[in-house]
Amino acid sequence: TRYVYRFGGGVNDGGNGNKNLLGGKGANLDGMASIGLPVPPGFTITTEMCTRYYVDGEVYPDSLNAEVAGGIAHIEGVTGKRFGDQADPLLVSVRSGARVSMPGMMDTVLNLGLNDRTVIGLASASGDERFAWDSYRRFIQMYSDVVLELDHGAFEEALEIAKEDQGYTLDTEMTADDWKGLVAEYKTIVEKQWGKPFPQDVNDQLWGAISAVFGSWQADRAKVYRRLNDIPGDWGTAVNVQAMVFGNMGDTSATGVAFTRDPATGENVYYGEFLINAQGEDVVAGIRTPQYLTTAARERAGAKPLSMEEAMPETYAELAKVFNILETHYRDMQDIEFTVQQGKLWMLQTRSGKRTAKAALKIAVDMAGEGLITQEEAVARVDPAALDQLLHPTLDPKAPRDVLTKGLPASPGAASGIVVFDADTAERRNELGDAVILVRTETSPEDIHGMHAAKGILTARGGMTSHAAVVARGMGRPCVSGAGSMSIDAKAKTLRIGGRELTEGDIVTIDGSTGEVMAGEVPTVQPELAGDFGTLMVWADKVRRLRVRANAETPQDCKTAREFGAEGVGLCRTEHMFFDAARITAVRQMILADSEKGRRDALEKLLPEQRDDFAQIFMVMAGLPVTIRLLDPPLHEFLPHEEAEFAEVAKAAGVGVDELRRRASELHEFNPMLGHRGCRLGVTYPEIYEMQARAIFEAALIVKKRSGAAPIPEVMIPLVATRRELELMKAIVDRVAQEVFAEQADSVEYLTGTMIELPRAALKAGEIAEVGEFFSFGTNDLTQTTIGISRDDAGRFLGSYVDKGIFPRDPFVSIDVEGVGELIELAAERGRKTRPGIKLGICGEHGGDPASIAFCEQTGLDYVSASPYRVPIARLAAAQAAL
Ligand code: ADP
Ligand code: MG
Ligand code: MG
Repeated sequence: TRYVYRFGGGVNDGGNGNKNLLGGKGANLDGMASIGLPVPPGFTITTEMCTRYYVDGEVYPDSLNAEVAGGIAHIEGVTGKRFGDQADPLLVSVRSGARVSMPGMMDTVLNLGLNDRTVIGLASASGDERFAWDSYRRFIQMYSDVVLELDHGAFEEALEIAKEDQGYTLDTEMTADDWKGLVAEYKTIVEKQWGKPFPQDVNDQLWGAISAVFGSWQADRAKVYRRLNDIPGDWGTAVNVQAMVFGNMGDTSATGVAFTRDPATGENVYYGEFLINAQGEDVVAGIRTPQYLTTAARERAGAKPLSMEEAMPETYAELAKVFNILETHYRDMQDIEFTVQQGKLWMLQTRSGKRTAKAALKIAVDMAGEGLITQEEAVARVDPAALDQLLHPTLDPKAPRDVLTKGLPASPGAASGIVVFDADTAERRNELGDAVILVRTETSPEDIHGMHAAKGILTARGGMTSHAAVVARGMGRPCVSGAGSMSIDAKAKTLRIGGRELTEGDIVTIDGSTGEVMAGEVPTVQPELAGDFGTLMVWADKVRRLRVRANAETPQDCKTAREFGAEGVGLCRTEHMFFDAARITAVRQMILADSEKGRRDALEKLLPEQRDDFAQIFMVMAGLPVTIRLLDPPLHEFLPHEEAEFAEVAKAAGVGVDELRRRASELHEFNPMLGHRGCRLGVTYPEIYEMQARAIFEAALIVKKRSGAAPIPEVMIPLVATRRELELMKAIVDRVAQEVFAEQADSVEYLTGTMIELPRAALKAGEIAEVGEFFSFGTNDLTQTTIGISRDDAGRFLGSYVDKGIFPRDPFVSIDVEGVGELIELAAERGRKTRPGIKLGICGEHGGDPASIAFCEQTGLDYVSASPYRVPIARLAAAQAAL
């Protein structure tokens, strides 16, 4: 097997980039080389090498040595410099690069190949002594940090002291001799911490860095990121070794990052930052405040330092040309890293840029409009889960704001929560149910879990392309970065801001769209769903086959669901209606009655209430199907707890409190989830289902009269395991329907069907379909009963199950396709055989999960049902599944 692929200097071994083999960075370096863009020459060690390295027990195959030497020879050939040469040394960068961009991987090492002798060669060959020693000190510091994993604080401190001694404030004031002195100190620090002198052999340096990249694949923070983002552990990372180009060779040199469109809003304008006389990491790390790429952006921000467009007009024009070439080639918005060495532009990276949901929508719709992609591609481009960001509230523009300071609008959306100062606390408080704003001077990959737990992120340093900004946009968390007037004391857990001092637990609101930071909680409003969102949804609806319904049981939820495009109700849970304060006493009276007569008295009181519930829902859903599930939970869930509640029920029922207590304790169950619930209630107390059926049909006729459009009730019997159960329950429903229709001399169409939520029901679906007119897969219970794991107790161990690869994902979030999925397929097949065209849907939590929706499409279900806010997500996911 070949493990090394070369690029640059007219060569591209990878044949325009295979991401799985070369990693994202390597594939696109190869791709840029293939279309003739200026890429410094280099080579990629494949992801397969990483996988093999771990399979073989962290050793390399013998052949790798020669392949890497061949790669170095390629770079030497193109650049005319030699690695380790004392007169004019070749320097390289060593860069990690997995298939998808992954924080938590080893940071890049720049300027590798410098040692005590080559630094002198670099100084004379470049004619710039200061540059050579600046590069060397950067190299020692980076290599010590990321490869040797020494404490970087000591290096930063040494630099601070060196500057103080000379009375400097900026790094740029340091002279060649100052850097030389610092290099000597750095080497002492290395020897003290590491126990050995800094490696002088350039090949040792190279292999050290390569192994560090492969090693970082198994670092804890990389593992955490993989788990949060469903990235398989066996993908591996590639290593890229590339000739250095230098942005730190004076004022005609620079380095920068750019997006071909605005990643926050999606606007079709160039967007980016650069720094003159600097090396790569300086921009991202936020050490110096970067300058704007375009003049328009500079002016909008009211900033003084010249834009790149103004400072380097020719190079800027060349860069703009490259932007267009890249967008046309990759047919997507690109996130680009570049360096200018003495006026010459070099491309160091390109990839599809991370963007907010808003930008993703706009870019997809715009690009389809520009003819760059098709409408279907536009539909495929937007991550359904990311729509969540757009469907949630933003700050009420009319609400008063107590603005403390303003930073950069790094990731849009608004969030309120308590201030916390570290990632662990963020995680802990989030678990306790607090909304948390993570406040940091700047973030690093170690903070990922805390950023994930936080509702929003606020940093004092760093630009729009800083770590915090990039990660927050990717996660869909609002973020305000670079709020420079803020000062944080993380140890004391205090924050000075706008002349005030806040401590951990104080509430703030951040607005990631404006950069404002406010004291207290600011009220929010619902977002507008027109514009690009509406356009994309129309395109999605054109391609989707699956219908989308909502799980809703209040008129308000039904309204929201319809606004979001729901085509009916897939699950209306009637028990939620029973908890209403005005009727709970009657519900309790019904449950605690020990005779049919007692129950009927109580049900009599509930009937008008329940009829009114259904009438309101049917009004909103006029003309559409509404699936109503008859009472499902174990009765004791409704029981009184307090003394006063017992007394109230006793009074209503006309019995003694002691009597009631005895009855309540009789209802106790050891395993209520598998107890007296679902259709078992209808079997023992048919009058309950009778009342509910009557309420449904009376309400349907009322709405038919009132609105002219008859609703289509689908009466659903829960927790059926056998044909006979359903037969008994359907007889009740049909009898009541006929009674009501006769009384009113009018009728509506309706169906009676069942949930398939027990393995036995799935197995006997053929028989059950003889009676049931539709199936709705209740995948929450079906998952619980198939795997035998209680959803309410799974939290304690499911994490380990996912970590250890027992389940690829939480089966309560994303359908266990292999197990539960097989039961669904089997039930669908057997049901259809008995009753061709039987209506099939899904109403579990999974109905709003894109991966599960893809499975439903494959199985040929008729509809999915999701919570109202997830309806648009389901529409888009259904469209993508159909493509
Ligand atoms: P990341 O994945 O963290 O972005 P990169 O490998 O892209 O890491 O490196 C970070 C920065 O280092 C780049 O943006 C670039 O500016 C700089 N860099 C990397 N390789 C080179 C190189 N060969 N010459 C000059 N700068 C480089
Ligand atoms: Mg990069
Ligand atoms: Mg259920």
